[in-house]
Amino acid sequence: MINTKEIQAIDSAHYMHPFTDHKSLSDKGSRIITKADGIYIWDSTGEKILDAMSGLWCVNVGYGRKELVDAAAKQMLELPYYNSFFQTTNVPAVKLAEKIIKLAGDDYSHVFFSSSGSESNDTNVRMVRHYWATLGQPERTVIISRNNAYHGSTLVGSSLGGMGGMHAQGGMISGIEHIEQPYHYGMAPNQDRDAFGIEAAGWLEKKILEVGADKVAAFIGEPVQGAGGVIIPPKTYWPEIQRICDKYGILLICDEVICGFGRLGKWFGSQLLGCKPDLMTFAKGVTSGYIPLGGVVVGKRVAKVLIEQGGEFNHGYTYSGHPTACAVALANIEIMEREGLVDKVLNETGPYLAQKYAELAKHPLVGGAETLGLVAGFVLMKDKSNHVHFDEEVGVGMICRGHCFANGLIMRAVGDRMIIAPPLVITKVQIDEMVALIQKCLDATLADLK
Ligand code: PLP
Repeated sequence: MINTKEIQAIDSAHYMHPFTDHKSLSDKGSRIITKADGIYIWDSTGEKILDAMSGLWCVNVGYGRKELVDAAAKQMLELPYYNSFFQTTNVPAVKLAEKIIKLAGDDYSHVFFSSSGSESNDTNVRMVRHYWATLGQPERTVIISRNNAYHGSTLVGSSLGGMGGMHAQGGMISGIEHIEQPYHYGMAPNQDRDAFGIEAAGWLEKKILEVGADKVAAFIGEPVQGAGGVIIPPKTYWPEIQRICDKYGILLICDEVICGFGRLGKWFGSQLLGCKPDLMTFAKGVTSGYIPLGGVVVGKRVAKVLIEQGGEFNHGYTYSGHPTACAVALANIEIMEREGLVDKVLNETGPYLAQKYAELAKHPLVGGAETLGLVAGFVLMKDKSNHVHFDEEVGVGMICRGHCFANGLIMRAVGDRMIIAPPLVITKVQIDEMVALIQKCLDATLADLK
């Protein structure tokens, strides 16, 4: 039995957490998560919690999968680690690269491995700049991204990202430009959604012309912005982004760290949303978070230049192609295929969640409820018929999140947006349970605000 107070005291004394205000943490103490199974986690007080965020958008096959443990153990006994530098390789990394290319489709030929989404986006920047330099256009260095995007927490990742709080703490790299996100409900709710999608994509063209097309290396975007509040773009957005990138010969990078590996009902989000990125970042769902692994799926256009003309690419990580991580990823993908999880999201659980959210949209606090596959979000509105938001000082998202915390539900607040991304194994009955909990927390939030 864990002594909660003792662990909390040690935690507060020695463990510096990511994205945490430690002063506020030492007042209350951290919640200690001790075990997990399926879509549920338990804390050290024995409370069962429905994890509607899949950890950090990653536990796609759910918790407690012995097959993944067995795959890791088997690989660790055989070859726990070896690197892929100096013309060496290992079987799990090779097989995983082959598998990912099969899932990505004919436009892709290679995979570069890392251990996280952030590292993979660092790789993207190195790769696209090296690509253009190899083609004799070294001045093409600028990468265009979007406000409120999340591309990781390394210097490159946070510079690519558009998170105000991260930029405010300084140290960003140069050569990154940002445009507005395609947030229809937040920016132009009265405009036709598809027309807004075209207009929002047009901001990319405007930025390209401002920077000079011959200076722009790439555009990067999450198919659906996740940490920025689950911003689902109009269906016209990505095809128009693709058209603009093609028009100016600019590389397109989709950051599939959240959307990849089934979250939207396809292996990669871009396959659903109508674009064909030159590079795709992945991490999280590739191993369902059981072990760190990330990477970049490289399209033929880039791979051909780098391989045939690029010489040595002076870039790589100790854990690139880590055999144990790759073995777990292979086992994870096998589970997803055997259980038909991706199709299930597309045809069964995704549409069911959409139906449940359409009902939830009737709640007086809920504005702009939207889902795509198994991501969903809505805005907590003060007066939704007149489109009036709460003042920031009210902290409505935090009030609602507090009720989730108290009622055994993990749901995330991003400003006044409440978002979810449950494990892909969630059943319809469990979706009912999750939405009933959300409803309860909304009622409690409403009561607090009266
Ligand atoms: N890209 C996206 C879209 C993400 O959501 C995240 C993490 O949430 C990252 C990159 C960074 O991944 P990591 O935390 O593994 O570095």
